[in-house]
Amino acid sequence: MQESFLPEDEQSKAPLSAAPKAVMSVLVPYPVDKAYDYIVPDGMNVNAGDYVVVPLGNREIPAVVWGEAANEVPAKKLKSIVHKYDFPAMAPVQRKFLDWVADYTMSARGFVMKMSLSVPGALEPPVSVTAYQRGEVLPELIRKGLSPQRQKVLDVLDSGLAYRAADLAREAGCSSAVVKGLADKGLIQVTEIHSPAPCRKPDPYRAGAELSDDQHHAAQTMKDLLDSEEFHAALLDGVTGAGKTETYFEAVAGALAKDKQVLILLPEIALSNAFLERFKQRFGCAPALWHSHLSPAQRKNTWRGVASGDTRVVIGARSALFLPYTDLGLIVVDEEHDPAYKQEDGVIYHARDMAVMRAAMGKFPVVLVSATPSLETIHNAWNGRYHHLHLKARFGGARLPDIHLIDMRHDKPERQHFISPTLKQVTQEALDAGEQVLYFLNRRGYAPLTLCRTCGHRMACPRCTAWLVEHKSGRNLQCHHCGFAQRPPEICPECGDEHSFAACGPGVERIFEETKRLFPDKSVMILASDTAESNDELKAMLKKIHDGEVDIIIGTQIIAKGHHFPNLTLVGVIDADLGLAGGDLRAAERTYQLLHQVAGRAGRAEKRGRVYLQSFMPDHRIMQAMEAGARDEFLEAEAWEREQAHMPPYSRLAGIIVSGREESQVIEVAKQLGRTSPQGMTDSGLTIQTLGPAPAPFARLRGRYRYRLLVNADKSVNLQKILQEWIHGFKIPSAVRVQIDIDPQSFL
Ligand code: ADP
Ligand code: ZN
Repeated sequence: MQESFLPEDEQSKAPLSAAPKAVMSVLVPYPVDKAYDYIVPDGMNVNAGDYVVVPLGNREIPAVVWGEAANEVPAKKLKSIVHKYDFPAMAPVQRKFLDWVADYTMSARGFVMKMSLSVPGALEPPVSVTAYQRGEVLPELIRKGLSPQRQKVLDVLDSGLAYRAADLAREAGCSSAVVKGLADKGLIQVTEIHSPAPCRKPDPYRAGAELSDDQHHAAQTMKDLLDSEEFHAALLDGVTGAGKTETYFEAVAGALAKDKQVLILLPEIALSNAFLERFKQRFGCAPALWHSHLSPAQRKNTWRGVASGDTRVVIGARSALFLPYTDLGLIVVDEEHDPAYKQEDGVIYHARDMAVMRAAMGKFPVVLVSATPSLETIHNAWNGRYHHLHLKARFGGARLPDIHLIDMRHDKPERQHFISPTLKQVTQEALDAGEQVLYFLNRRGYAPLTLCRTCGHRMACPRCTAWLVEHKSGRNLQCHHCGFAQRPPEICPECGDEHSFAACGPGVERIFEETKRLFPDKSVMILASDTAESNDELKAMLKKIHDGEVDIIIGTQIIAKGHHFPNLTLVGVIDADLGLAGGDLRAAERTYQLLHQVAGRAGRAEKRGRVYLQSFMPDHRIMQAMEAGARDEFLEAEAWEREQAHMPPYSRLAGIIVSGREESQVIEVAKQLGRTSPQGMTDSGLTIQTLGPAPAPFARLRGRYRYRLLVNADKSVNLQKILQEWIHGFKIPSAVRVQIDIDPQSFL
């Protein structure tokens, strides 16, 4: 068509048969919103979803063909696709999902796609490694004449499998040199292998547990939902120990029997070995794992397995949702209420909510699992949008722990101590009975505040609005937000007094000190994210607890999830009020969830558990609800308050965070945004209101000043559209960043 606009002589120069070059749009994994047009070279057959290499700037990068050309740039300015990978294309539903996530979270499309294309080099064929296998059959006489170690190697290889030298040596109990020696003599064969995709053949037909009636009913409902081949959301609700895992394993089996891939999302922290063992028991092979501690080789292997369809089940943290499944047919979101599902940087998203959408797009069921469902989820169960599957009691008649409140206003610890006489006494009783005790305090370090007794000066982080936390183990003061650390000062920087600093309040290290003093001959262990730095270290510590080598565990929330210690019968919560300060929208809900989860650690075997909550406000409805085991009443009261306040799940929120290194510039931008912020009614008569700008509770973080606005709108308002019109028209100086947080969970 354009040709007719060319001058005559130009037209005549064009070869008669020149078909227009094929052009497709390609999305690159960079923070750009648009897919760019690229020429498809002659002879290359390219379709939407194909993985390709394209030039971008002066680099060549892997990318995904997104669709038809946009034709916004003249063809002669376009570059060509360099290479097409011989790999199954990204499924249409996956691309549609990524587009939707970009729109919903108001993030650049390419940035969202990057979460799918997250493993550098994953598309390159896997490198193979040298391996050894059985060679020609050796005459018995020769075999008998070999050293016992060499014979053992041959025995192992009789299985017919190929092994890497190190693995073979381990199996045979010898050194790799023995293996290589055999190969040099030509007695075994050298070959090349690459590691197979994980979890290729989980067996759905192995016998699972004999289910209780409740479990059976829930499992059957989930299977029916799978059979419908439609989207459904179900809440699998039941106290810790009710057998929820056992029950949703049946749904997993159901999906596998239909030849579907399955994703089980877990908060990272709950990806325990115990869980993997259970999976293996049930399905006869280990699941594929996806979390932040995998090696590059493991990541690559799993990514390829998922994207090729070889890998059938993935158990992963939130980012596993973005792997390019070929045929996903079930998502389970375990501990669906967990705040860890919210990603707070980069693309800001809530994995539970995105999982529901992913299931809707793929027309399959999603199962949300919790003992303490989020208000959002229970609200959907109440109003019938989600199926509500309820396991009423602990499995096998195990009883829930008794919960007692300790009124710290009357049951006072000694000065500068934190364990009340009552907690001390019940601890002694448990220890005398040979049982284990857990003290829970969700605060790392020794003391959260260091104060000068002379002038009242408090040691603060120079980069954040936060006090420095004393760590005795590291002999320093640390900022828990940016990692800043310094030696404790000898003299007060404010008044110059010497040795005037006092530690205020407890962290786990301080409770450790006090516990050691109270129970000097007992073995006490701190379990926090900074005492167990590696996964192996954590495993070793958990094993010690399991084996009864520890009497008293002092733990942060790292211990609150998923672990099961049969001999642990007493849980003391040092400061049950901790999460209630700050007035966060979800403070009460979160506190209830955390306390409930911690309480669930007590008495999971035959022995009855007891939980003691130390509180300065034992009359607070959370403490009352915990004591009475009145979860639903608590949730109903909480829901009523939210509704009165026109807050989620009865309204929609978006947080706008303006940040930068120059405070005046940040204020200026925030104020300008405030002046034109959406207020009042939309055209269709719905309400929308913007609060702020105001300094964020963390008014400074990592050296950046932060101001916030909060938009609150009726549920049916198209929030993204309004925000788009409001913010995207703005000229924002490059030194200032404006982040949009749809459905914010944190207001800091
Ligand atoms: P939840 O996930 O609700 O906390 P689990 O599925 O972990 O509960 O079950 C709690 C305990 O009860 C586990 O040790 C589990 O093996 C056992 N259990 C649950 N259901 C059954 C069953 N049907 N048969 C045998 N043991 C079961
Ligand atoms: Zn800091």
